[in-house]
Amino acid sequence: RAKADGSGRIEVHEGALSSSEIDQLQLETDLRHAIDNGELRLFYQPIVHLADETLLGYEALIRWQHPTRGLLPPGVFLPAAENNRLTSKLGAWVLRQACNDAATWPSDLRVHVNISARHLAEEGFSELVTAALEESGLPPERLELEITESTALFAAEATLHAVAVVTERGVTLALDDFGTGYSAITALHRLPIHTVKIDRSFVADVVTEPSTAALVHGLLQLGRGMGLQVIAEGIEDLDQADWLLRHGCAMAQGFAFGRPAPLPTPAEVLIDEVTDAPAAETVEDTPE
Ligand code: C2E
Ligand code: MG
Ligand code: MG
Ligand code: MG
Repeated sequence: RAKADGSGRIEVHEGALSSSEIDQLQLETDLRHAIDNGELRLFYQPIVHLADETLLGYEALIRWQHPTRGLLPPGVFLPAAENNRLTSKLGAWVLRQACNDAATWPSDLRVHVNISARHLAEEGFSELVTAALEESGLPPERLELEITESTALFAAEATLHAVAVVTERGVTLALDDFGTGYSAITALHRLPIHTVKIDRSFVADVVTEPSTAALVHGLLQLGRGMGLQVIAEGIEDLDQADWLLRHGCAMAQGFAFGRPAPLPTPAEVLIDEVTDAPAAETVEDTPE
């Protein structure tokens, strides 16, 4: 039995498939249909200014409403997409949907979209971004693309060119999970980075671990020195928020400020406006 892994190589498996292999193959097959069947969802998590908790915008985070397995987080199915040339189809859906959604928000709110290295390297990426912006009417300045350090580090000329084209238009670039890759600092020099997102593994220990505190302190100084925006990820409690604010971190994201959630449907917004009451209570009170 042979299986193309998407990179042109052929992997040969011998013997029977384990149940987890069967599971994975089924997931890949299902994922091909998920986009066309409208099973993918974008959840949005708030990004706030730490000083006053006002909204800067939202990060789009993909979910899959699987017909039998329920709501799946990206960690379960994104690896399958990476193996299967589904990357560009899925990435294009996310970009278009996020731009369309953001175009309906108040005009000071930005949207952050995660971009996989493989998609960014594909031919036509910058044209896709342009199309998503034009179709939605979203001004380029309101779109931020999140990439990881390894994407920046191993970017080929074609990728650097695509990045140059979109940033030239006003789209900004964030380095996600900052500090977890091989060479965070080198990545900053390879691409026109606007924002760094300090990984939540650092934020988790910032109050309790002096060495982590020193490291985050250094990252904040580095960001300031280079004129970058800094967002701390994964803030779960107010002690962490307080520490970060005192050490000069202006922006944050985390369960303490809001979990990823679907946008309210137009009907829910309407009910909310009409009754001027919290949506959850209103929905329960509404007769079927
Ligand atoms: P990320 O871009 O670093 O996104 C942040 C992740 O941390 C999200 O997980 C979010 O739910 C989680 N998170 C946020 N605040 C907290 C917190 O206070 N505590 C904890 N424990 N977790 C928090 P999620 O949604 O499961 O996404 C995981 C990763 O999947 C993302 O990491 C991103 O790398 C990738 N991803 C998500 N959506 C997309 C997408 O549309 N396209 C691509 N290419 N990748 C995506
Ligand atoms: Mg991200
Ligand atoms: Mg991150
Ligand atoms: Mg992360």
